[in-house]
Amino acid sequence: MHASFSLFWRKLFSLSAFWPLLPLFMALSLSGWGVWGQDHTVPLQASVFFLLFIGMIGVYFCFLRFRRIQNIQDLAMRGAHDGMFEWNPRSKELRVGPRLLGFLGYSENFIFDTHTWLDLVHSEDRERYNHMVAQHLKGETDVFYCEYRVRARDGDYLWIAARGLAKRNRHGDSTLMVGSVSEITERKNRENFMFQQAREDPLTGLPNRLALLENLQRNSDEAYQAQSLMAVLFIDLDRFKDINDTKGHSIGDKLLVQIGQRMRDTQEAGQTLYRPGGDEFILVAQNIPDPEYAIALAERLLQKINEPIAVDDFIFFMKASIGIALCPDHGTDVDLLLGNADTAMYVAKAESANKTRLFTNAMAKRLAARYEIEDGLRHAIERQELSLVYQPKYRLHPYGVAGFEVLLRWHHQGRFIPPDRFVPIAEETGMIVEIGRWVLEETFKQLSDWKKTYPKLPRCAINISSRQFLGQFLLHHVLSCLKRYQLSPKAIEIEVTESILMQSEGEPISQLRSFQDAGISTALDDFGVGYSSLAYLQQLPIDTLKIDSSFIASLKPFEDKSATNYRPSASLSDLEMLPVKAVHTDEIVKAILTIAHSLGLYVVAEGVETVSQKKFLSDHGCDLIQGNLVGMPLEATLFEQTILHPLKARDKSMVPSSDG
Ligand code: C2E
Ligand code: CA
Ligand code: CA
Repeated sequence: MHASFSLFWRKLFSLSAFWPLLPLFMALSLSGWGVWGQDHTVPLQASVFFLLFIGMIGVYFCFLRFRRIQNIQDLAMRGAHDGMFEWNPRSKELRVGPRLLGFLGYSENFIFDTHTWLDLVHSEDRERYNHMVAQHLKGETDVFYCEYRVRARDGDYLWIAARGLAKRNRHGDSTLMVGSVSEITERKNRENFMFQQAREDPLTGLPNRLALLENLQRNSDEAYQAQSLMAVLFIDLDRFKDINDTKGHSIGDKLLVQIGQRMRDTQEAGQTLYRPGGDEFILVAQNIPDPEYAIALAERLLQKINEPIAVDDFIFFMKASIGIALCPDHGTDVDLLLGNADTAMYVAKAESANKTRLFTNAMAKRLAARYEIEDGLRHAIERQELSLVYQPKYRLHPYGVAGFEVLLRWHHQGRFIPPDRFVPIAEETGMIVEIGRWVLEETFKQLSDWKKTYPKLPRCAINISSRQFLGQFLLHHVLSCLKRYQLSPKAIEIEVTESILMQSEGEPISQLRSFQDAGISTALDDFGVGYSSLAYLQQLPIDTLKIDSSFIASLKPFEDKSATNYRPSASLSDLEMLPVKAVHTDEIVKAILTIAHSLGLYVVAEGVETVSQKKFLSDHGCDLIQGNLVGMPLEATLFEQTILHPLKARDKSMVPSSDG
């Protein structure tokens, strides 16, 4: 046990008990020299022998004292709950207590120096451990404390917490370090478990937002340093909220689990799928060769999502929008990367469902403009920035005003923002519900005012967004407003677009029917640009069809005889395949008129701007026209002066009012 042996000698010289003996030796030897040396009565050798004898007695007492201290230390090492250690930073000699050996599973001590100990320390912790020891030896820390893993006899690693204090000489150099070690494996496992739990989405088992934020910054730094390319794919399921709302959260949850599983199955090395929340997933793909790889990866994910999914008794056909941002091209900061991937996803979703999009700077600009609108729109009502205009509709045979449409206007900070820009945003954000209520209230107020002066007021068409049909309150609200303003249901007409068909469960169709049943006329707006087929038209509870202005704008002018015409379309579903803008739409419009009339629908042509368009529509039996040629949208006072007042004056020639 050479470590203890050398320790003994150090103790011997350092033990204070030895030094009081020294003056005694000196006194005795000097007096011996003086008394016996001069007379030569006692030989010099006796004196030296005497001194040696006294010295040995001293050494013996020192040894006893050292043993006592060592026994106390041993006892302390044995008795303490923690393992003890004592280490000489210069000689690297190490002494560990039996307790420490015990919890590592060793019965025999074999750890006598730093080297043997470091061999047991986990390779991942070694550098940190060495660094912390060095810090303390240099006096940079008051106490040495380090949690690290050590290999036990059975090969498993145990977590230990080591505390220690260095003893320094007067130069400040550490000469000895003493401390204790306790086993903390259980606590560490518990902590690790909680750490994992905090970073795992309980539903899908995928790493969650916290894990994403922590890992992504690291991944991004690595990509930047290694000059490699990393892709962040922002995956958002389309219309998932509808499924949750209509089928319940339990089914929604099962869907998310299956979709998560599918995407996880496609994961390759260097890719991590996260579920930060809701119906969003994020895939981080490190070290990709080029942007095209990321796009192809997104397409593959989309295909996986699109495969039918069975949950309980239902089969779902899911769609998703995927936005891609690249690191470092589109940012190295986590927030920026995620924000840009989100922007690209947003653009993908806005363009059409089930798309993938790679981020561009132009997207960011567009989105910023969009947020400005969204923000302004939130306060538009309270700031009284909204107003209404009214555009007349004319019956062609016999010619005259047959109704009008109310259109929303927004003047924001001195600028006019067209409804085509803000209505879709209001729809997406759900603000259209509140705005729609405002439109209804203001329109009814205006109608009830006009009704007093113009008892034969033509019917007013109000645009209603699909979103306003969510829930069952719309009809109830409209009827109660009509009652409050003492208006007949025939005073109004509602205009809806084909997007209403995409609403969940065919329920809006039955709502539309309830409007008809209540005596309120219904019109299908923007016909031709959506998904309508003849089959659908037959089923829809509508009274009027409004041909979209793009068809009217592409009608052939009088003078143009050369343009190719299309054969009359046999079915309206063929319309979807015709390139509307590129060709003249005469035959299409004729076909729509024929089919709509055969279904007993009124037809309104929107956006009539030229005499030739009006003539064409008149010649082919269109019922009503609306457009700048015959009447621009006007604010209430002007509309009253130019349309309603002359109408009253020419009462006799006026088309019978819708309100009877
Ligand atoms: P819409 O329902 O198809 O309305 C007809 C649009 O055509 C109006 O645009 C109108 O001003 C415009 N217009 C009328 N005659 C002509 C013409 O001869 N040439 C051209 N180029 N355009 C003409 P506006 O007012 O900009 O509204 C755009 C869209 O915004 C509306 O299309 C409608 O979808 C939506 N919208 C407007 N007001 C409301 C509202 O109160 N509620 C809802 N939900 N949507 C509204
Ligand atoms: Ca309309
Ligand atoms: Ca329209």
